[in-house]
Amino acid sequence: MFCKYCGKEIDENAAFCPFCGAKQRDESAGQEEQPRQTPPYGQPHYPPYQQPYRDPADARSGGFAFLCFLFPVIGLILYLVWKDTMPLRAKSCGKGALIGVIVYAVFLILCIILCVVAFNFYDDYYYYTYARILLS
Ligand SMILES: [Zn+2]
Repeated sequence: MFCKYCGKEIDENAAFCPFCGAKQRDESAGQEEQPRQTPPYGQPHYPPYQQPYRDPADARSGGFAFLCFLFPVIGLILYLVWKDTMPLRAKSCGKGALIGVIVYAVFLILCIILCVVAFNFYDDYYYYTYARILLS
């Protein structure tokens, strides 16, 4: 006979086509697959999604939060590394890094403002002195 999917000549009694793997006898193939879908008797049925492994040492950590506050890049890396196995510690790192980034951003903005103010003051002082020299 011929495979009804790829059309190649195959054995009369073949359950599957050796060329494309398509089922040739629906009734028997269906019976063979049936037991695989339902779990065997006496065994508990596990849900398809299993909880990821959690480290028993997982806990909120002020030390790591502070470290990540000082080095937000390290905090981000630690957060990504621990977010599955140690969610609480990862959260501490993530929070520390986030606060660190905000503080650095505010600090940077303050520096820029201070610089602008300082340069303006310098300019005023320069022009003031220059004007005095010209007027004298
Ligand atoms: Zn085939």
